[in-house]
Amino acid sequence: MKLHIPGPVDVAPDVLEKMATPMIGHRTKEISNLQKSISEKVKKLFFTNNQIILSTSSGSGLMEMAIRSCTKNAAAVFSVGSFGDRWYKMGKANGLNVDVFRAEPGKPTTPEIVEEALKTGKYDLITVTHNETSTAVMNPVDKIGEVVKKYPDVVFCIDAVSSMGGVKIDTDNWGIDICITSTQKCVGLPPGLSIASVSEKAYNRANEVKNRGLYFDLVEVYKMAAEKNQYPSTPSISHMFALDYQLSKILDKEGLENRFARHHELAVYMREWTNKYFKVFAEPGYESQTLTTIENTRGIDVGKLIKELEKEGHLIGNGYGDLKDKTFRIAHMNERTLDELKELLCLIEQKLDLK
Ligand SMILES: *Cc1c(COP(=O)(O)O)cnc(C)c1O
Repeated sequence: MKLHIPGPVDVAPDVLEKMATPMIGHRTKEISNLQKSISEKVKKLFFTNNQIILSTSSGSGLMEMAIRSCTKNAAAVFSVGSFGDRWYKMGKANGLNVDVFRAEPGKPTTPEIVEEALKTGKYDLITVTHNETSTAVMNPVDKIGEVVKKYPDVVFCIDAVSSMGGVKIDTDNWGIDICITSTQKCVGLPPGLSIASVSEKAYNRANEVKNRGLYFDLVEVYKMAAEKNQYPSTPSISHMFALDYQLSKILDKEGLENRFARHHELAVYMREWTNKYFKVFAEPGYESQTLTTIENTRGIDVGKLIKELEKEGHLIGNGYGDLKDKTFRIAHMNERTLDELKELLCLIEQKLDLK
């Protein structure tokens, strides 16, 4: 089965094999060296000099760590869909003072929306979704970052779960304090590990916050990673072996620029195809580079299409949440090639008799 869903993605066989590396102790020099090696590579992928931490959880764990550990007074969540809303739910579930600012479905979070909220002086942490996987909208985090820089007390958190590894995210230049991704999307590993870069500012803030919990306490995780290149509890060592290997493939074998260019080429192709037969759900200018949400303008039976494609060995995604059947989603991330994407789209044309 070829996975065209926005995570988990197909994992290369040589990467999967690394998951079967024999175990090492989690309090050894070897694990510290492995963490160091991963950190150096992640810094290149994230364009950051900040501390790198890994979490043996999916990306949502690090999102909860960020908002809970670093909100002192109040958080503003900027949401453009289901994954943006998740930050808000996390804030509420942790008893934080949190407000949500939603954009219309398909529309981005603009720098103006962020400025309007920050001007109130009420918030000391904000969250923005870089690539909203329900609507396939990519937010202008570079321009939002320019606004946030005017408010030095604000901790700037980015969910880059479905885009890191497919498009350049200039973490330090954009002023991102906490940038989060999961392994099972554009980074190309199995699910179960997540990665974040954390600024000193975010760490200092966390030190002023009470009730940070235990497993996801940013202070403990950051401190131990910084001082010992280890973690308070046992990490998924199997993932660490595979991640170290996959990062080398990304950085040295394909090269970041080539990887970003390939993702761009696929995104443009996918968009043109979509607008020929359907409509891209995202507002023009804010389309994702790693997946496309297709508006079901033809009123097709999405469930039936998914089943028929499954029989042929291809899995695509239905719309997420409220957008189910009104949209469907095709990811074009990680190792996907243009030929593979074309093969899938030809098959869809046949199944739907598109002309
Ligand atoms: C998948 C996804 C998440 C959730 O990540 P998990 O690793 O499943 O916890 C959060 N945000 C976005 C944008 C996603 O695509």
